[in-house]
Amino acid sequence: MIISISFSVVIYQGVSRDIRRRFVQMEHRYMIEEMLQSPMRPGGPRNPNAPSILAADFRAAKRGLLLMLIYANGAILIVSAGAGYFLAGRTLKPIEEAMEEQKRFIADASHELRTPLTALRTSIEVALRAKKITPSEAKKILESNLDDVESLQSLTDNLLYLTRTQKANFHLSFGDVDIREIIEKVVTKLNLLAKEKNITIEADIDNYSLEADKESLIKLFQIFLDNAIKYTNKGGTVSVKTEESKRFLLVKVRDNGIGIRKQDLPHIFDRFYRIDEARTKTEAHGFGLGLSLAKDIIDQHKGSINVSSEVDVGTTFTIRLPIKH
Ligand code: ADP
Repeated sequence: MIISISFSVVIYQGVSRDIRRRFVQMEHRYMIEEMLQSPMRPGGPRNPNAPSILAADFRAAKRGLLLMLIYANGAILIVSAGAGYFLAGRTLKPIEEAMEEQKRFIADASHELRTPLTALRTSIEVALRAKKITPSEAKKILESNLDDVESLQSLTDNLLYLTRTQKANFHLSFGDVDIREIIEKVVTKLNLLAKEKNITIEADIDNYSLEADKESLIKLFQIFLDNAIKYTNKGGTVSVKTEESKRFLLVKVRDNGIGIRKQDLPHIFDRFYRIDEARTKTEAHGFGLGLSLAKDIIDQHKGSINVSSEVDVGTTFTIRLPIKH
């Protein structure tokens, strides 16, 4: 508005000066014409057809110009205020959403941190209040405390990873990565966990080279295999297979576990989303962060993820990653 009003003042002054000059010129021209038409009668009556150029006409022209400029500025004010309101709303919306998301994230994270901390505190307080405690009871309590500490550690690790990857200047260190080496590493790591539940892990992995961040890919397959073991009943089978499709590598992680209901499928990649434990009928501990982290890692590698599942039959996650050629 300041720019528009400044321009209007300049235009008003420039144009009024121009109008005045033209009026004066016109007046002179008519006076000359009048003198030429009746040279013999100087000072005689004026030609009645000659326009009488009055100061009032000049003032009216100036007023007209002023009104036009006021209307134009009024219109600019209304349009720019409307457009400004609309554009500011559009610009601020993603910022507002990001802030909301961050608030939700902090609230969820604090809630998740509180649960194992409360369990830990209660167990320690009860143990301290007990008059007598046998070494085996103490050992049991310490074991359960250790479980809580481990789950807190895994939660903080995941939270730290998420915060790190969300920094604007965060870059993964991409390099040549051999997919077989990565998956074999993860399978070896999780075999013990699988054995505890008598679950067999079948791995049929071909050698593919990817341009990827090694540590992130290890984390990625650890999430899927860990979930497959967690959500499969004792004696089940988990398989990992690779195949190639249109310059992409497909890694299929399949289990014959409890499955996921159709209505839960769209939400499993949301942060802190967990399907209620009563339904999963497992004692699986988790915070609902694994799959959202996995999705982040896949996005960072320009891949995609697909899931198909049937309750009590099993689940297959298909991870699609670009192959290095
Ligand atoms: P969590 O830490 O709870 O495992 P995730 O983000 O890894 O969190 O998974 C979200 C939810 O998706 C889990 O709570 C679980 O109910 C469901 N889920 C994930 N993987 C499987 C699977 N292989 N079989 C059945 N349910 C699964």
